[in-house]
Amino acid sequence: MTSSLIAIDGPSGSGKSTTARLVAERLGLAYLDTGAMYRAVATEYLRRGLDAADAAGIVDLTRSADLQVETSPASPRFAINGRDVTQAIREPEVSACVSVVATNQAVRDELTARMRRIIDGHGRRVVVEGRDITTVVAPDADVRVLLVADPEARVARRKAELGERVDHVAVTDQVLRRDRDDSTVSNFTEAADGVHVIDSTFLSPHEVADAVIALLPGA
Ligand code: C5P
Repeated sequence: MTSSLIAIDGPSGSGKSTTARLVAERLGLAYLDTGAMYRAVATEYLRRGLDAADAAGIVDLTRSADLQVETSPASPRFAINGRDVTQAIREPEVSACVSVVATNQAVRDELTARMRRIIDGHGRRVVVEGRDITTVVAPDADVRVLLVADPEARVARRKAELGERVDHVAVTDQVLRRDRDDSTVSNFTEAADGVHVIDSTFLSPHEVADAVIALLPGA
């Protein structure tokens, strides 16, 4: 079977995960949520009570981690060092500290190598979503998309996901502050050469998925 490697980047709340899962389901591809890998490392960082300044400790925990990634778009699951963290990675305290691990370049290098192994292990028939997939992890993907949306739409989506648990100010911080921190290590606000920009502000998830699928060579 021919490779169908689809790379989708974008800020939080742009609809990356929903789009990537829909596209993977519709095309029968695997689905790799790279943000979940950073989040899994962040759960271990919290569990060990490491200090944000302890860069060596953070790198060591990443390199030695047994990270299990289940790539089914219907039920992606994640485990680190034998603990299933599929639910835990979505907790607000993980969202609040994930940029600490993700802004460490040695952590990024380690996770990037693992992502490439997962992609190759699936014969490059994967939809991969994150912040630096189109530029660093898989710049040679068959389709490269930068998904964008207005900040208000992104905050509203995240708020809808989290329900009553957090207030508007906290969600706005979670979305916009995290993007600011993340953008110090990867550029996901401007499309690199050859990357298609899709604005999801006024599109339904299926319309965004249609737009991505239409970009596939021969579609
Ligand atoms: O996409 P999601 O919000 O789950 O990503 C969680 C965090 O993982 C981001 O805020 C960012 O710090 C980091 N990340 C990254 N590079 C990626 C994917 C995620 O730095 N490719």
